Amino acid sequence: MDSKKIMNEFPTLNIIHHPLLEDKIARMRDKSTPPDEFRRLLKEIAALMTYETCRHFETTERSVESPLEKTSVQILKRNIAVVPVLRAGLGMIDGVLSIIPEARIGMLGLYRNEETLQPVDYYLNLPQNLDKMDVILVDPMLATGGSAKAAATTLKNYGVKRLTMMALIVAPEGVRVMQEAHPDVAIYTAVMDRQLNEKGYILPGLGDAGDRCFGT
Ligand code: URA
Repeated sequence: MDSKKIMNEFPTLNIIHHPLLEDKIARMRDKSTPPDEFRRLLKEIAALMTYETCRHFETTERSVESPLEKTSVQILKRNIAVVPVLRAGLGMIDGVLSIIPEARIGMLGLYRNEETLQPVDYYLNLPQNLDKMDVILVDPMLATGGSAKAAATTLKNYGVKRLTMMALIVAPEGVRVMQEAHPDVAIYTAVMDRQLNEKGYILPGLGDAGDRCFGT
């Protein structure tokens, strides 16, 4: 799909094109890449993507004294919080923190109820005052969109007003689900893959990101 078509069909999606990202993703896709290298690549990609994901964050004016004179500067308007979706999202945290060391961290664990097929929160531990922060939801894979949609709903129920999602690889199906449920949530990704298989895995994808990250 050319980029104009993607922009029209997926208005909330921002694809970050960069040769470094492409090279690192190529190595992550390779099934012979061992967990230690996979983890390192995921961390490096998360750091590179964080830079672009924060591009729309607002700044505010301050004045500082440089060693030579007083000058007006722009600083981030709000604190930033990062919320990984357990467990694969954990693999991106160190990368995000290497760029935003002062970010607050929340944790959100979801599982799928086998009867209703609906995602259920099993762990939730969030910083206070999330309503005053820019919040980044991180998960390496946006596949069916079921957990991303539920995670965004949970965060909004906790008061989050400015939410951005960062996912390494997305499937068109998941982006559609997210943009329908949360049209206000910008999604930043490095690549949109072709489709999901019958088990909800992204094709060509990289397999189960949690298993590959943690060697399970
Ligand atoms: N989660 C993964 O880890 N991989 C996929 O392909 C889809 C969901």
